[in-house]
Amino acid sequence: MDIPARRRRLTAQRLAAREPRGEDLLNPSPARSTFDYLVVGGGTAGCVVAARLSADPAVTVCLLEAGGRARHPAMSVPLMNFITSGLPQHQWGYLTDPDRGLAGRSLRFVQARVLGGGSAINGMLYSRGDRDDFEAWACPDWRYQAVRPYFERAEARPGGIEISRGAALTPACELFLAATAAAGHRRLHDMNGEEAEGFGYFDYSIGRGRRSGTMDGYLRQAEERPNLTVMTGTQALKVRLEGGRAVGVQALRGGVVVELAARSEVVVCAGAINSPRLLMLSGLGPAEDLRALGIAVALDRPEVGGNLQNHTRQKLGFTTRRPITAYGLLAPTALVEAVAAYALRRRGALGRSVLTAGGLLRSSPQAEGPDIGVIFTPGLMTPGSGLGMLPRAHGFSLFVRNARPWSRGKVRLRSADPLEAPRIATGYFQDPRDMTALLGGLARVKAILAQSAMAEVIDRAQDPEPTAQSIARSASHAYHPVGTLRMGLDDDAVVDEQLRVRGVEGLRIADASVIPVIPKAGTNAPTIMIGERAAALIRGEAGA
Ligand SMILES: Cc1cc2nc3c(=O)[nH]c(=O)nc-3n(C[C@H](O)[C@H](O)[C@H](O)COP(=O)(O)OP(=O)(O)OC[C@H]3O[C@@H](n4cnc5c(N)ncnc54)[C@H](O)[C@@H]3O)c2cc1C
Repeated sequence: MDIPARRRRLTAQRLAAREPRGEDLLNPSPARSTFDYLVVGGGTAGCVVAARLSADPAVTVCLLEAGGRARHPAMSVPLMNFITSGLPQHQWGYLTDPDRGLAGRSLRFVQARVLGGGSAINGMLYSRGDRDDFEAWACPDWRYQAVRPYFERAEARPGGIEISRGAALTPACELFLAATAAAGHRRLHDMNGEEAEGFGYFDYSIGRGRRSGTMDGYLRQAEERPNLTVMTGTQALKVRLEGGRAVGVQALRGGVVVELAARSEVVVCAGAINSPRLLMLSGLGPAEDLRALGIAVALDRPEVGGNLQNHTRQKLGFTTRRPITAYGLLAPTALVEAVAAYALRRRGALGRSVLTAGGLLRSSPQAEGPDIGVIFTPGLMTPGSGLGMLPRAHGFSLFVRNARPWSRGKVRLRSADPLEAPRIATGYFQDPRDMTALLGGLARVKAILAQSAMAEVIDRAQDPEPTAQSIARSASHAYHPVGTLRMGLDDDAVVDEQLRVRGVEGLRIADASVIPVIPKAGTNAPTIMIGERAAALIRGEAGA
């Protein structure tokens, strides 16, 4: 489908109104328009793919990113994450469809729109996933032992991201972990081990007091290479297909529609919401839905956009009787000191995450494995936004999550307009096992808080006792979408184990959308690993 002239103009005006103004946009027509590889999306995985591919000086690589560069001074400051993760200039502003399982509520669905993607705005919890997570993918080439070398490559210095191990931020953290042990949960001293059931301090993608994302870790150095072109403020509108092969990308840049050609491959790394969106705009997807929107079908792939998974979560807040929480660090006077310590030596609370401790447990003795994730933060954030969210009293919060959700949602286009936000139907709690698991998990967390280490310091619960009804009215979600371009061995799976789109030559997907089953803890580290593996596959590395 070609964009009619009128829509082209409208599209250009609408994008121009909201696109970032960066040096990359001064010349809307790139000097070169044919590259060996076009990488669409400069997020967590896209930065890895572009950096690794361009290490070969014999090939040319172009990375297209719809967003701009992260310029807000707080972006690299770990503790400021509760503000920077919500900055409107760095995200797409998506909302989910009203969800039956959430009493008809729509939720904000933050998805990064900035170079570095999720790794530039996320919570920095670094979790590779354990053996069971990769077994669940049912892809022999992606089993735990097979993916491990790619995590190790990502974590090696120099060249990848920096990982640091957590520790108590305030005395409340140790009390919480003591209570988990007293309630019979295993203490983990390595949260990235082969088996992740148990509790401990998290690992972070933080290095020397700064966020470590894939823009800084991978792309920054690679950008100096003459064979890598990075175009920010450039939104791919569709992948161009000719004779069953991906030959290029049509994109909007500086208000102008540009055509870019790929000699070898187009690698789509636009994330689990925007990658299926781009494929559908390109005529690859569920044929009936595409025809209904007037999009010419290039290939009927019913699963494109389906199988959407995410972690739903219930927050619990408590005030404490003793001054053992982050209020001591973030109260106005202490904050001034913290800012000074950080500015001078990059030390202190600002260089840390408030999401300190947690782990995985089973919602019931019958559960096949851990199915509930728990995150403890020694801070009672105030509802609101920006600095207004800072704690106003001593207290702590817990996030209790469905680590292995059964419910599935889907991403669909609203129209053929490439700038219209997609529909995100999350389908949370559609499978009743998810509510049963969450209630079971909350009961087990209650048992942890009843242990003397915590019971002695808790003053008051901020929320009523959770029930299925109250959860539907108040549950929220992490921003961990996966699965919408599922990898698998079966013919229905959208991509094969080499991440190639079945039925199309020269088109690969390398981002969170290929993850067939959501890992129990986080999705950023597995997505970095996917970026590493994708580059190795494309480069034809032995054993990849
Ligand atoms: C607020 C937040 C907190 C999170 N916290 C954690 C955490 O603590 N731990 C954890 O493990 N995970 C966390 N995650 C999830 C994790 O960051 C993501 O799973 C990961 O970033 C996914 O990487 P990706 O490469 O698939 O997509 P992204 O990183 O989202 O990258 C996709 C990129 O493609 C660009 N793009 C999209 N469409 C187009 C187009 N048409 N043309 C050009 N560019 C396009 C986007 O602008 C974006 O930059 C969090 C995510 C968010 C948003």
